[in-house]
Amino acid sequence: MSEVFFASAEAPVTELEKWYQPEQSLVYKLERPIDESGILDGISSGDIVAIKTHFGDFGTTKTLRSVFLRKIAEKVKERGGKPFVTETTGLGMTKDRSFAVGRLLIAEENGYTQQTVSAPIVIADGLIGLDGVEVRLNGKHLKEVYVAKAIAESDFVVVATHFKLHFRAGVGGSLKNVGVGCVTKTTKYDIHVANPPRIDKEKCNECGKCLEVCPSDAIANYEIVLEKCVRCAGCGEVCEAKAVVIEPWLLGEEIAERIVEAAKAVIETVGKDNFAYLNFVLDVTPHCDCHPYSGVPVIPDIGIFASKDIVSVDKASFDAYVREKNVERSLLKEKFWEWTSPERLISYAEELGLGESKYTLNKLF
Ligand code: SF4
Ligand code: SF4
Repeated sequence: MSEVFFASAEAPVTELEKWYQPEQSLVYKLERPIDESGILDGISSGDIVAIKTHFGDFGTTKTLRSVFLRKIAEKVKERGGKPFVTETTGLGMTKDRSFAVGRLLIAEENGYTQQTVSAPIVIADGLIGLDGVEVRLNGKHLKEVYVAKAIAESDFVVVATHFKLHFRAGVGGSLKNVGVGCVTKTTKYDIHVANPPRIDKEKCNECGKCLEVCPSDAIANYEIVLEKCVRCAGCGEVCEAKAVVIEPWLLGEEIAERIVEAAKAVIETVGKDNFAYLNFVLDVTPHCDCHPYSGVPVIPDIGIFASKDIVSVDKASFDAYVREKNVERSLLKEKFWEWTSPERLISYAEELGLGESKYTLNKLF
């Protein structure tokens, strides 16, 4: 049974004259789950340490606050590590979020800079999101995974996750932050879509826009050459005639299983012992941070969960979320989007040996 450490978001200050208590800050409280869980003990002096988070998009307002990343970076440095804060690009070839340059501008607008997080910021999958290390695997769904290069080359990864709901995966916890967040566009495509793209010749008006956007010259005679296609989905974004067929977009158990298979490849590349997980169950929004807005959180804030076990940390966060009653104005009356299967993330990850769903919870505050 794995251990999960917990710091509550509550600040039980009720006496007027005792209002000034810095130790009630959740940033201050974050120190104990990190120190007492030993999740960073695997960092050796000189190690390059990725702190993987999500910067959101322009307009996203409830991503993880930069002060938490700053605290994590300080803790990494205390152990002699060299931290950098990192994120990957989004699927597609037209939006700011799909390129490193745009991602960095989004990061700056949302409050993540080298100055605020006390560590350099690196986009892990390169300028256009195709820098990856190919990992072969024999998954039920995925046979190859492209791990974002800067993640693959790190000595240690701290997965710092804003835990929230997700339209397709059900929840965005550590499993999703690793499985989707630490891979290139090609694997993001393979997680989300069952078939490679193709062009419907009857709808194509030969405008040429897809040829201009394609990063791998994979379109010849208005047909996609699959051997060259890197599955960036850019052609689908620019085709106004809707001649590019990208389908089916996956939901439910299948997308959950694909996320877990990709997470397994990432974890095996860096090494299972070289990961630490921190789930921030705060501002649990009904949509993920990819959306250019953040609505009303579904539940009140719960706190921070820390573990060396990716399955346990997600299960503990999941259980705490399910126990909490939805706020009255929640967009959701149920706990999850009905077409999602978040439980499958947990059960499949356990089946693949990524961790244990049984855990002991050490409540520190
Ligand atoms: S963008 Fe669409 S319509 Fe234009 S050439 Fe490509 S597939 Fe055809
Ligand atoms: S053909 Fe493939 S590589 Fe080219 S734009 Fe479309 S998805 Fe991307």
